[in-house]
Amino acid sequence: MSGDIGPSAFFKAASRAFSDTIDSRRTRPELVALLCAQAFDSFAKNVAIQAAGDPALACHGECAACCRLRVVATAPEVFLLARFISVNAAAFAERGILLLKRIEAADRALGALTEEQRMAAQAACPLIERELCLAYRLRPLACRGHAAFDKASCLAAARGEAVETPISTPHLVVRSLVQNALMAALRCAGLAWGLYEINRALNVALSAPDALEQWLSGEDPLTSARIPDFDLIEAGAIFDAAGA
Ligand code: SF4
Repeated sequence: MSGDIGPSAFFKAASRAFSDTIDSRRTRPELVALLCAQAFDSFAKNVAIQAAGDPALACHGECAACCRLRVVATAPEVFLLARFISVNAAAFAERGILLLKRIEAADRALGALTEEQRMAAQAACPLIERELCLAYRLRPLACRGHAAFDKASCLAAARGEAVETPISTPHLVVRSLVQNALMAALRCAGLAWGLYEINRALNVALSAPDALEQWLSGEDPLTSARIPDFDLIEAGAIFDAAGA
């Protein structure tokens, strides 16, 4: 990790840094963008260190093969994307991209699927347009952490073929550490800190105008989008044991 510290020390330091940001903006809406910027920056810097010397990735932002997997996100990432979508929905609609309708439909079709069911559905993320992510700069850590070395095998997997896709371990590990550090800091601050299925969570956040306010006050307006295979009690115990 950066500064040559181990994963445990990195997790604690990153969690403390997120806590400092939360303390500085506790109930203000700009907290969402600040936490996400911090998370994305930490991911980028540390993955660059950890992946130094690895073979070149096949991912360059112009391929959406993996955008058919289930995406999970923390609440700040959901609210950041929801704001981008609501601010830009009219401009997208002028180009024939009915993003709000797409997200409603994706929630109905995909919002309750398990990871395996989601993979089998082979449905593209509603933010994909002509194989490009409409919110690429704001994509969640889960998307950033999925990086592959071989485009052909990604495309084959996206077609439903049973192939091994070589993916970057440093991306997976750093994504997990940064995501966990962010969740640990949210938990310490009494903010909802689960992992949410992105389609359902976006639909909830876009449908309820006061969802962000509720989250900032310590409620969880995204409860219906929580993924069932993320155990809050177990994760909380792991964070406690790690000293977050
Ligand atoms: S948010 Fe963007 S990068 Fe992530 S799955 Fe959707 S289209 Fe792909």
